[in-house]
Amino acid sequence: MRNFIIFGPPGAGKGTQAQKIANEFNLHHLSTGALLREEVSRQTEIGQRVQKIMDQGGLVDDSIVDAIVKNKITQDGQVAGFIFDGYPRTINQAENLDALLAAKALPLILNLEVEEKELIKRLKLRGQESGRSDDNEETIKNRLHVYSEQTRPLLDFYARQKRLISVNGQGTIEEVFQLLQDQIK
Ligand code: ADP
Repeated sequence: MRNFIIFGPPGAGKGTQAQKIANEFNLHHLSTGALLREEVSRQTEIGQRVQKIMDQGGLVDDSIVDAIVKNKITQDGQVAGFIFDGYPRTINQAENLDALLAAKALPLILNLEVEEKELIKRLKLRGQESGRSDDNEETIKNRLHVYSEQTRPLLDFYARQKRLISVNGQGTIEEVFQLLQDQIK
C-alpha cells in the first residue's frame, strides 16, 4: 500500500490535486470534508451534529472524523493506497491515522504552499461559483485562523519524521500537478 496526504490551507487546491493524483496512481481519494458534506446533505444524525460547526468554519470533533476515516479504510482496504484530503487536521488525528495504517504504509505528506491573499481570492470565487456555504468572507477568515492554529503545526510533526514534501501551489492546476507527480514517481 502507498499512502499520501494532500496538505495545505483551505483553498490551496487539495481536492483538485487529490483527484488527479488518485486517477493517475490508482489511489482512493478520501476527503473528510466531502464525506461530512454528504452526511449534512442526507441529514443523518452525524450530519445534524456537524452542520453548524462546518458552517462556522470550526473543526468537527476528532472522534467523529476518526471514525469516518476508520470505516473507509476498513471497507476499502484492498485498494493500492489512499490519498487523504482534509485529514488529518490535528495532531490527534495524525497519530490516529498512523495507528490505523501499517507501519510500512505510513503516508507521505504533499504540502501545497499558497499565499494567504491568493487563498482568499480563490475561496471567494469558489463561493460564488459552487455556492459552498462555508465559502463566505466571515467563515473563510475563521477557517484560515483554525488552519494556522491547529493544522499548520502538523508540518513540523511530519518534517521531524522526514515525511514532508512541499511544492509551490500557486501555478496552474497542470503545473502544480506536474510538481506533485515529479515527487511521487
Ligand atoms: P477546506 O480545506 O477548503 O476548508 P474541506 O472540505 O476539507 O475544505 O473541509 C470543510 C469543513 O469540514 C472544515 O472547515 C471542517 O469544519 C470540516 N472538516 C473536514 N475535515 C475535517 C477534519 N479532518 N477534522 C475536523 N473537521 C473537518
